[in-house]
Amino acid sequence: MSPATTNPSARNRAERVPRQARSDAPAPRVRKADLPSKTCAVCGHPFSWRKKWRTDWDRVKYCSAKCRSRGTRETTT
Ligand SMILES: [Zn+2]
Repeated sequence: MSPATTNPSARNRAERVPRQARSDAPAPRVRKADLPSKTCAVCGHPFSWRKKWRTDWDRVKYCSAKCRSRGTRETTT
């Protein structure tokens, strides 16, 4: 009478899980000179990356909310 020792789920898994890059990790410190910059689509003024745009910098087209409201306003009169 021997106890059942052939249970596969009882095995310890010794697999090493690779570290995954967190997408929500805080951005590394960037020097001011290394910040990306764009040109405003409305006033043509160059502006640089800001912390509040870190999540949607790709979509930022305007230097300020003022220009954005002007830029997104459709001129269909
Ligand atoms: Zn602007």
